[in-house]
Amino acid sequence: MSTSTAAVPFLDVKAAYDELRADLDAAYRRVMDSGWYILGEEVEAFEREFAAYCGVKHCIGVANGLDALHLLMRAAGIGGGDEVIVPSNTYIATWLAVTHAGARPVPVEPDPRTYNIDPNRIDGAVTPRTRAILAVHLYGQPAEMTAIREIGRARNVLVFEDAAQAHGGREGGRRTGAMGGGAGFSFYPGKNLGAYGDAGAVTTDDHDLADRVRLLRNYGSRVKYHNELPGFNSRLDPLQAAMLRAKLLRLDDWNARRRAVAARYRAGLDGVRDLVLPVVPDGIDPVWHLFVVRHPRRDDLQRRLAERSVGTLIHYPIPPHRSEAYRTLGYPAGAFPLAEAMAQSVLSLPMGPHLRDEDVDAVIEAVRSQS
Ligand SMILES: *Cc1c(COP(=O)(O)O)cnc(C)c1O
Repeated sequence: MSTSTAAVPFLDVKAAYDELRADLDAAYRRVMDSGWYILGEEVEAFEREFAAYCGVKHCIGVANGLDALHLLMRAAGIGGGDEVIVPSNTYIATWLAVTHAGARPVPVEPDPRTYNIDPNRIDGAVTPRTRAILAVHLYGQPAEMTAIREIGRARNVLVFEDAAQAHGGREGGRRTGAMGGGAGFSFYPGKNLGAYGDAGAVTTDDHDLADRVRLLRNYGSRVKYHNELPGFNSRLDPLQAAMLRAKLLRLDDWNARRRAVAARYRAGLDGVRDLVLPVVPDGIDPVWHLFVVRHPRRDDLQRRLAERSVGTLIHYPIPPHRSEAYRTLGYPAGAFPLAEAMAQSVLSLPMGPHLRDEDVDAVIEAVRSQS
């Protein structure tokens, strides 16, 4: 039996390889032929290029996004007895970075229109133990960092970014990675800038902070066998660095395509009953890692879209405070009602730089006919 519309997968990660095959194959051969497989020139070149892209002085390549955030917390001296303000609605890695450093995550609820941490709720969560705010640019939309930096200054609290979903996003003249005292990026394959395996990076303008992250990622050593502190092994793989250098050249074009897809969804889904579209505040330029809508009967909508071969996902079905992993923090159901309501209502539609207009139109048509 044939259907009128072709299947639309949630994301086709292979498409970027099809587009850049020659460059990526050449990058692979360059590393293999170099005979150098840990840190070295390829990693340093990516670090220079990504720092320049973000508009910061330093980039330190690490093994993945969680490590980037965790090492950032440790390098900033955050540890036992400290509190770090985090969004109540985020991927659990944001919270894990804080607890792995020995500190306590203090959740703050989102602005449900933007999905990002609500700057108006942050001040009330600051205590004498608060050392930092770890803001997340959720779904590719930069958080309201000008307002958050102002709170940080006023309350003498550090401001950091979880930029894992927002490579290339802007607020005013600043790119993500340059919006606070330091940022953690993930290059997980499905991210806007994705490797072919795990990879991550820290960006910062702070020389001392960069130096400590560099030590922490490499056994605490600058010179082999001279260990200045008990570090970790969390180095960016040169093969991944080479892949990322080739893909970084395409990032702005790919983000522009995501923007066009988002605009097409917005026009096509405007006015659909009970469907809530994301709101972008003035001056903020998102990179649409995900296009997330809300619907009061989300599970029904997802099931009916699946019947029409439209792939969707839920980011995220369980807020960190309700996760089994954080049972010990003791937050009951209802502790963060906005995050819990989001978990029940959000739905991520297909999104990516290789989605064609006809795919987007098929998703719009499917949503319109099912809502
Ligand atoms: C992907 C992601 C991370 C973690 O990145 P990994 O590379 O998977 O460790 C952290 N925070 C957010 C918001 C993410 O989306």
